[in-house]
Amino acid sequence: MPDLIPAHLDHRRIWSDFDYCYPVISRRSKGVSLGVNLNPDKVCNFDCVYCEVDRTTPGKRRDIDLDQLEQEMAALLDLTLDGSLFTFSPFDSAGPEQRRLNDIAFSGDGEPTTAKEFPEAVERIAHLKWQRGLQDVKLVLITDSSRLQAREVVQGLDTLMANNGEIWAKLDAGTEAYYQEINRTSIPFSRILENIEITARLRPITIQSLFLSWKGKGPSTEEIAAYCGCLGRIQGMGGQLQGLQLYTVARPTPEPEARALKAAELDALAAQVAEALPGLSIEVFYGPEGPEEHTVV
Ligand code: SF4
Repeated sequence: MPDLIPAHLDHRRIWSDFDYCYPVISRRSKGVSLGVNLNPDKVCNFDCVYCEVDRTTPGKRRDIDLDQLEQEMAALLDLTLDGSLFTFSPFDSAGPEQRRLNDIAFSGDGEPTTAKEFPEAVERIAHLKWQRGLQDVKLVLITDSSRLQAREVVQGLDTLMANNGEIWAKLDAGTEAYYQEINRTSIPFSRILENIEITARLRPITIQSLFLSWKGKGPSTEEIAAYCGCLGRIQGMGGQLQGLQLYTVARPTPEPEARALKAAELDALAAQVAEALPGLSIEVFYGPEGPEEHTVV
C-alpha cells in the first residue's frame, strides 16, 4: 500500500494476499474495523450510482473457502490485538485513539447476504471473537436489506445478534422512482421496506442512508419527506430504529456524476429528518470537503 494515504482514507479492500478479510480505520468508529468480503467476485444485486467498487476489473475469485476466510480473520485479529498491524503502512499513521479494534463488519464488494455461506461465516467469526474474549467487539452486517427475510439469512442474523451484533440497513430513497434511479436494481422498493420493517420488529436496526448530488441535483425536499414517511411507518409498525447514519459520497466513484453533497446541504437534510422524526438519533458524516468530525443531531 502506498505511504501517502492516511489510514482513515484508505478503504481499499486489500490486505497482503488475502482474498476475503481486510483491515480499515473507520472514521465512524474511530478505530479499526476488520472487514469480511463475502463477494470477492464483485457481484451485487444493486448497482448504486455511488458504488466505489471498480467492476471494470474482474473479481479475485468466485468461491468462498470458509477455512481460508477463518484463517485470514484469525491472523488479522491477532495482528490488531498485538499491535503489529500499526507497524504496516498506512496503519502506522493511525492516531493513538484509532489503535483499537472496534468491530468486525460484513461489508464487501457486493451484498453479503447473497452468499450462501453467510450464516456459517457469521458463526465462524463469532467463534474467533469468543476464543479471544472479544465480547465487546461488535459484529456488524452492512446490508442493502434485499434478503433480510431469507431463511438462511435470518439464521445468520440470530448468530450475529447473539454476539454483540448490529444490522446497518441501507435506505437511500423515499420513493420507488428515486430508489430505482440511485440504487438501480430489479428488487422492488416495497420489498426493501417490508424487509426492514419486519426485521426491525424483531431486532433493532440502524439505518444507513447515502444522499448525494446525482447529475447535478441533490434529493428534493419531497423525496426526503417521502423518506421520512417510510421511516415513520416502520416505527409506527413497531420497528425499532436504533439510529440513522446520514452520509454522502466520501471518495471518488467510477460514476463522475455522483458527487458529495456540501456540508450545508447535508445539515439542511438532517434538520428536515430530525423535525419529521423527533427522538431518532441521527449522525451526519460529511464528504471530503466537509468537517472531518461527524455531528449528532
Ligand atoms: S449495495 Fe453496496 S456493493 Fe452493492 S452496488 Fe450498492 S454500494 Fe455497491
